[in-house]
Parts: sequence; C-alpha cells; structure tokens
Amino acid sequence: MQELENFKFSNPFADLPEDFFHKQNWTPFDNPKLIHFNEELAELLGFPKGLNAEDLVPYINGNKAFKHSAPLSMAYAGHQFGSWVPQLGDGRGILLGQTQTKDGLMDLHIKGAGKTPYSRFGDGRAVLRSTIREYLCGEAMHHLGVPSSRSLILISSDEPVFRETTEFGAMMVRVAKTHIRFGHFEYLMHNNKSEFIPILLNHVIKSYFPELEESKDGYTDLFEKIVSSTASLIAKWQAFGFAHGVMNTDNMSILGETFDFGPFGFLDEYNPDFICNHSDHSGRYAFNNQPSIGLWNCHALAAALKDHIEIERTKEIISSYENIFYNELTMLYRRKLGLFEEETDDLMLVEELLTWMKNHQKDYTYTLRSLSDVNENFFDETGKAWLKKYQERLIRDSSSEIERKTMMNEANPKYVLRNYLAQEAIQAAEHGDLSALNLLLEVLKNPYTEDKKFDKFSEAPPEWAKKIEISCSS
Ligand code: AMP
Ligand code: MG
Repeated sequence: MQELENFKFSNPFADLPEDFFHKQNWTPFDNPKLIHFNEELAELLGFPKGLNAEDLVPYINGNKAFKHSAPLSMAYAGHQFGSWVPQLGDGRGILLGQTQTKDGLMDLHIKGAGKTPYSRFGDGRAVLRSTIREYLCGEAMHHLGVPSSRSLILISSDEPVFRETTEFGAMMVRVAKTHIRFGHFEYLMHNNKSEFIPILLNHVIKSYFPELEESKDGYTDLFEKIVSSTASLIAKWQAFGFAHGVMNTDNMSILGETFDFGPFGFLDEYNPDFICNHSDHSGRYAFNNQPSIGLWNCHALAAALKDHIEIERTKEIISSYENIFYNELTMLYRRKLGLFEEETDDLMLVEELLTWMKNHQKDYTYTLRSLSDVNENFFDETGKAWLKKYQERLIRDSSSEIERKTMMNEANPKYVLRNYLAQEAIQAAEHGDLSALNLLLEVLKNPYTEDKKFDKFSEAPPEWAKKIEISCSS
C-alpha cells in the first residue's frame, strides 16, 4: 500500500533538542486483531478513501513503517494527586508525527506501544478494556461538542497483560491536536533544563498560535490562551456531567482538549461529590472539585513558566479563570434551560434544580433532557415549586416555544456514555463479540437526536450497574 507508506506525516517535535524525547520504534503484537476503525476520522486525517482497515493494521502494529514518520516517546513530568513526580513521560506511548487537516494540526500517537525509557515499573502495554473506554469516550465527547482527543483505530492481541486479572493487550492510535501537556513545561523547569523552555514555547506558538509570533509578550499571551481554554473545557465537563478522574498535570493538554482517559465517568444520578476513580480516596478529583483543580493546574503551569512570563499579567490571567469558567457554564446552562435572554439569577435557578436532583437521586442527563417536554408528575412538591419558578422565568423570555425546545434538545443530550453501557460493550468484545461496541459507537454519533430504536441507551442504569467500580489500572 504505497499510499499508506507515504502518509503525509510531519515531525516538528522530533526536530527539537534530544532532551525532549527518545527516538524509538515500538513493540508489535504477534497476532494483532482489528477491533475498530474510525472511518470518519480517517477521512479528516487524509487517509485514502475506501481504505480497508486491515491494510492499516500492520502499520499500527509496527510490522510496516510509515516512511515520513519519526516515532518517539516524549519526556514529561507532572503533579500526580498533588505530589510532584519529576520523571514521567510516554511509558507506553509513541508519537508518530502530526498531519495538517481542515480542523488544524493533528498528532497521531500509539498507546500501548511497549516499553520506552519512561516505562518505570510498567509493562508498556494497555489493555483492551481501557482502550475501548478511551475510544468510546473520545467519540462521545467529540459528538457532544466537547474538545477531546479521539481514536483512529484499535487493535487487540492474545498477548496476556496483567492488571487485577489477566487481560488482553491492545494498542490504539490516539489523535489529538497536541500531545504537549502542562507536565512538559514542568519537566524542563524542575529538572534543570529551563533553558529549553523558550524552545518549547516557540514551538507551541509556531505550531498552534502563529498570530502570537509578532506579539511583544507572546509567552504570556500563550499562557492566557492555555488558562482560558482550560477554564472553558472544564465548564463543559461540568455542564455535561463528565468526571475526568485523574486531572494530574501530566494529563492536561495545553490546547484545552479532554485528554488521557482513565477511570472517567458521566454522572448517572446527580451527585456533585461523585468520585469516579476508586483509588482517589481523598476525592481530590471528585466531580465538583474539577473547576478548582483546573485552576490549581494552571498555577502549577505558571510556576513552571515563571521566568518567561510577565508576573503582573500572570496574576491577572490566573484571576480571570473563574470568570471564564462561570461565563461558559452559565451560557451552557441557559441553553440547557432554553433561556435566550440573560437574567442575573439564572445560575441560581440552575443551582436549585441541581440541589433538587441531588436530594431526589434524579438522573442528570435524563432530567435535563426531559425539561423541554416537561411532565409535572416527574416532580414532587419541592420540585413543582422549582418548576413554577422556571415556568415564570420562561414567560419573561422572548423565545417562542418551538425555538426554545429546539435549542434545549441541541444542548441536552439524549444519549451519553453511561458506564454500564461501556461495560457491556467491553465484556462482549472480550469474548470476541464486537456488535455491542459497534452499536454503542453508532448511538454516540448522534447524542442529541432521539431515535426510538435506541431507547435502551437513554435509560438510567439498572440496579446491577450502579455498583460497577472502575479500576484505575489500564
Ligand atoms: P496515566 O495514569 O495513564 O496518565 O499514566 C501516568 C504515567 O504512567 C505516564 O507516564 C504513563 O506513560 C505511565 N504508564 C501508565 N501505564 C503504564 C504502563 N502499563 N507501562 C508503562 N508506563 C505506564
Ligand atoms: Mg497520563
């Protein structure tokens, strides 16, 4: 396949000083097996139309080489659960290179690639369970309209990989605007390599923000962009009821994309204290802590950049985080409630609804979706009091009913990636049946459009599924 071999990779990261990475190939599986191929994303990336995914497998497994790729594992560090870890890096990942698309530059990165110099005690592999979860969630987020990494292709193997139990090894190609994390800058700063920081800052500006090349304070401008995209990303997570689970600084993309999926979860019943990661004993990354952790992470980045950004402006930028977050959150909730005009108490109205949902164990996604076609019987007395207030608020709004309903149904998904749905797809796939995975991916492509044949996917989890524990091993 000449066209595949010549795929249009460019590798500007590989031209940076060697302190940033280790150039290497990856470790193939003996018997790779195709699990899923993302045709839509392949088209965006410029792979040949009508490509037979089986032809791509040997290139992803590492049996054949892309001529223009310069594979490497990246060095970075980070704060994990608040503690400083000086050396992390791609312990099981390989950056293949990037490619230009109509939506901007995209990195292609292999996850589960085998050992690298950054593997520490790990085996360098990923398992089928966690790669399916990442694949599903990238698609779910993308189609909801939340910036996120996605997956191009997933392959599995019969290679045993040991986690809590023996599982199947798998590799996927992650596609993200960048793989540069907050932790890249922290790595340079705290490992006596701070003279390299301007090199990385220049690389980021040149690649992603060329308009800043002429700016007299481009590094600080760049920091402002990172803080702003982080705040608005986390507002989206909150509005969609998404808990990331491991917001360590090494899992934070500098371009504000959801990145590095671990034990994430979408809320079923609304619970602001929801902790999706069962190893997170203190609840550091609980759902309602995400906004402040995002800010904490911006502080960590500011500390890493302190010699290169202007201190007074940095303080202002950091203090703008809260406003950006609340503006975005309020905008998203106004759409969810069908409010075209702004009133100062709108967020309070939302808070009251959330409190009611929490006290009555109401499903977050279902409740919001059903507001466009309200059934009063869904509400108890306190709920009805809220509903009355909401309906009075609607009367003061200028929109027509039809406009309002349309806006609401485009803002409140009918289908989200509920944990138990992912779990069912994984269990079937582990037994060789990919039909549940394929169907779920179809459903997640149109999260806002009701389709009667997909009714089951919009339901709150059954009793057995409420107790699923998501392991942080992956
Ligand atoms: P994560 O929890 O996936 O964000 O990973 C945190 C760090 O551990 C990163 O440096 C990863 O590359 C590394 N890591 C995670 N799993 C493995 C593994 N199985 N083998 C080697 N390194 C790993
Ligand atoms: Mg990570």
